[in-house]
Amino acid sequence: MSTIVSVDTTDIRFPTSRQLDGSDAMNPDPDYSAAYLVIRTDANDGIEGHGFVFTIGRGNDVQVAAIRALSGYLVGRDTEELLADMGATWKMFAHDSQLRWLGPEKGVMHMAIGAVINALWDLRAKREGKPLWQLLAHLPPEEIVALVDFRYLSDALTRDEALEILHAARPGRAEREAQLVANGYPGYTTSPGWLGYSDEKLARLCREAIADGFGQIKLKVGGNLDDDIRRLGIAREACGEGFPIAIDANQRWDVAEAVEWVGALARFDIHWVEEPTSPDDILGHAAIARGIAPIPVATGEHVQNRIVFKQLLQVNAIGFMQIDAARVGGVNENIANLLLAAKFGVPVCPHAGGVGLCEAVQHLSMFDYVAVSGSQDGRVIEFVDHLHEHFVTPVVLNDGNYQAPLAPGAGTEMLAASIAEYTFSPGRTVAAV
Ligand SMILES: [Mg+2]
Repeated sequence: MSTIVSVDTTDIRFPTSRQLDGSDAMNPDPDYSAAYLVIRTDANDGIEGHGFVFTIGRGNDVQVAAIRALSGYLVGRDTEELLADMGATWKMFAHDSQLRWLGPEKGVMHMAIGAVINALWDLRAKREGKPLWQLLAHLPPEEIVALVDFRYLSDALTRDEALEILHAARPGRAEREAQLVANGYPGYTTSPGWLGYSDEKLARLCREAIADGFGQIKLKVGGNLDDDIRRLGIAREACGEGFPIAIDANQRWDVAEAVEWVGALARFDIHWVEEPTSPDDILGHAAIARGIAPIPVATGEHVQNRIVFKQLLQVNAIGFMQIDAARVGGVNENIANLLLAAKFGVPVCPHAGGVGLCEAVQHLSMFDYVAVSGSQDGRVIEFVDHLHEHFVTPVVLNDGNYQAPLAPGAGTEMLAASIAEYTFSPGRTVAAV
């Protein structure tokens, strides 16, 4: 038996805005940041649970405060009890009758819950000596569905239907796991397409993406239509006919504007249109999907919970679901999202990049492949080559494929030296990258 003795939080910020890395139509100057926590126990095994919420700078202190507000639930608690029934642990946080007023199940408090849940999964995976994807994939279907809160889902997905999906994926699990370890999981890159980059840099990075083995790229759009037409022309020429090029408007448009703007870009053979409008506008996404068909809509990095994903699927608004490891209520709610996607037959192509998002979300796609959808068809994990060097187990890509992580844990642990160097305080400017 062991007890949780501390939950330490840190406001970590990287000054990425200086290079215009990560610049898009709505976020011209992001400083990639992490509201970070470390859970320690008295087990004397040196094992800690690490988790974070990704933010883009200002407000990271608010996110840290929200995580700190949850520490009272953990300190002094029996570690094994919390880890053994992560479904109950999730509900302890998400169903808190007073905290719930701050959402419900959305915003800063819900993301804080997600970070704490992810840190607990990191702790459990390290204790079991497995990477998170493998830990989850080896759980019996009954234990997987016990992690999911089916409240508000049953009109689209019941516990029994989820069980059926998981049982249907059981044959071939061992073969898929071996295939995953041997070959990895396909990635795509957004590195060429940041809005702040010059045309020359765009063309060069497109060529480099193909040389690096990526099978898809993505361009930021929505700032200026003439610029978008010119940049897509450059990218199409650099990548060649038929190479998948997705575009991402980062919520820039109203509904009619999205349909019109995408119509002007359709001749460049668009693989998907990402975040065309507000992430809360379910009917707007559906109208856009109808208006730009057959070009599919993709969204999810700002979808606040499983209930919004459910509705997007119910109204056929999305052709791709883009889960984010640090947006919803952590691993548990993302398992709900994966099961919803499987029910509706929509491929999951996670959002990543930022700081640590690639390291974290790869586990969910790999779990999905082995134990839920059983497929990699049409599925790719976003990759951006930023800030991986700050992680204890950084992602490894080989010829455009994410290699399956084999180290125990959830991939969320940052190097102690990086945490110390990039800790932010109001009186201190962020350190140079
Ligand atoms: Mg995006």
